[in-house]
Amino acid sequence: MSHPIVIAIDGTSASGKSTNARKVAKALGYAYVDTGAMYRTLAWHCLQKKVDIDDPKAVSATCRKWKTALECTDGKVHLLVDGYFPDKEIRTEEVTSATSHIAAYPRVREWMKNKQRECIQFGNLVMEGRDIGTNVFPETDFKFYLDACIHERSKRRAAEGLQENLAVRDQRDSQRASAPLMVALGAMVINNSGQTIEETSNIIIEEVQKRRKHQEARG
Ligand code: C5P
Repeated sequence: MSHPIVIAIDGTSASGKSTNARKVAKALGYAYVDTGAMYRTLAWHCLQKKVDIDDPKAVSATCRKWKTALECTDGKVHLLVDGYFPDKEIRTEEVTSATSHIAAYPRVREWMKNKQRECIQFGNLVMEGRDIGTNVFPETDFKFYLDACIHERSKRRAAEGLQENLAVRDQRDSQRASAPLMVALGAMVINNSGQTIEETSNIIIEEVQKRRKHQEARG
């Protein structure tokens, strides 16, 4: 059997990564992995267990100890903690803010990278995050980087009923020392300000098909 394909979709917050990654995964029949949800789950778990999120050692120790499992249902991969996926709980403002703090810790990123690479057990993947093309699956030929102007991204969050300082989160994600958010070598950069979801996801799907043909031609 050939090696599973990984489509890496990275980009700024509210740049449409989740919506497009889900759409592309569905269209191609690949499993969808939201790596942000994994970092959020750790932040939520730390808050639940009263772990000091400003203490990298305490958070890393939690990472070593927590009881997790990967599960794929309806084409979506979830990280369960104590057998539970905290779908709603990880979307609060408190968790969002805590997440970009703990995501800067090198040991946390190392743990997440290993877990995210294990997702290949579910076959072909569309994986979205901040460092998938640069750090988690740097070997993949299918890398995308999504962005949109800050005005458009803030509008999208507001439409979801969320008020968030996206610029602060982008800055934290781009300026951390460990696997910062950046455009991966060979990534197709898509600024989707003014594009519909269909337009963006079609661009991704067409590019994947083009790159697959090139791969096949190379043998
Ligand atoms: O994508 P989402 O907004 O759910 O991600 C939440 C936070 O998790 C990001 O702001 C970032 O700090 C962190 N994250 C990361 N690397 C990833 C995915 C998410 O650092 N691959």
